Amino acid sequence: MKITVECERCGTKVELTPQTVGQHAYVHRELIEKDMYVFETNMGLEISPNLYMDFVDKLTQSTSDEETKEILEDNIEYNIDTEGKLEELRIDCRGCGDYIVLTEFGN
Ligand SMILES: [Zn+2]
Repeated sequence: MKITVECERCGTKVELTPQTVGQHAYVHRELIEKDMYVFETNMGLEISPNLYMDFVDKLTQSTSDEETKEILEDNIEYNIDTEGKLEELRIDCRGCGDYIVLTEFGN
């Protein structure tokens, strides 16, 4: 499988083809050779608290900002689930300035 990125304004064209086992295609290095680049990506972040009682107890019993900070640093990753999701990917043509924003990648 391959993806072709083609600038309709100036005709620059890049084919993203798999280079490795597992069919990985290198986006940046292929685009930059033809003067295109990923201008920006937009990640959405979903945060779901999943609090353990001992964490909540420790926090409520904390007597100083320093102690609270320490409790958060030690426990936050076990108590908060985060999930990143790609929402937008913009590719720019350096030659003429045209661009495309890919969006709606799914759930
Ligand atoms: Zn162009």
